[in-house]
Amino acid sequence: MARFLGSIQTKEMNQQLKILIQLSHLDARMEVISTRLQEIPNRLEDQHRQNQSLKENIEKIRNSIDELTARRRKAERDIENSQNLLDRYKKQALEVKTNREYSAIMSEIDSTQEKISELEEEFLLSLDAMEENTTRLSSLEKELDESRPQMMELEKTLSAEQVSLKDESEELDENRRGLTTQLDPTTLSRYEKTRNHSNSSAVVQVEGGICRGCFVNLPPQLVSKVHIGEELQRCPNCARFLYAPSQEEAGESEAGSIKDNGD
Ligand SMILES: [Zn+2]
Repeated sequence: MARFLGSIQTKEMNQQLKILIQLSHLDARMEVISTRLQEIPNRLEDQHRQNQSLKENIEKIRNSIDELTARRRKAERDIENSQNLLDRYKKQALEVKTNREYSAIMSEIDSTQEKISELEEEFLLSLDAMEENTTRLSSLEKELDESRPQMMELEKTLSAEQVSLKDESEELDENRRGLTTQLDPTTLSRYEKTRNHSNSSAVVQVEGGICRGCFVNLPPQLVSKVHIGEELQRCPNCARFLYAPSQEEAGESEAGSIKDNGD
């Protein structure tokens, strides 16, 4: 618990206030832990989803490579058939007797040649697409291969973090019970109510006459009572418990551990 005491100073500081400060630091830490514990499963879920989508993309590309292969083979067969047909027409052209027959066969030859050009174009296009897909496939497969050890590492790190946060949380729970039994019930109930209401720390510093919880100017008389620190004082605007930072804390209050959250 020593770290929650930090540099809280004065000997004359109200004992209840001291406990409240410790409690608020402890609760702030518990809040961080609980947020992180909720984040961890989401983080893993994200990673699984990314992996899954990678696998799905690989599957899609494999399917499209299969389709392209089939298209290419069909184009090859069609080219061969049309080529045979063309050879036959060319032989027939040598044997025709009339002009009419000759021009009919020439027109067949022209249209078959045209068809062969189209098929050759189709063949080349499927080759290009095939090359593109193969490159893409190998890059995705590489990505998937590399993601496996990363995934395992992440799972290991996150589950270790989970265990350590749960341990810390249990320890804090126990410390919290110890602290709350030292508070008088009215103060504890006010603390809990303010904390739930403000959704942030219920114990805040006064700095430059301002409540660091709601950033309202406090009456000078109240500020001086807070600095004396003998009685519990609360902000008339946000009801948070108030305390004066020690000199060290005043210097670093901007980065202080108490969550500032104006209402
Ligand atoms: Zn306030």
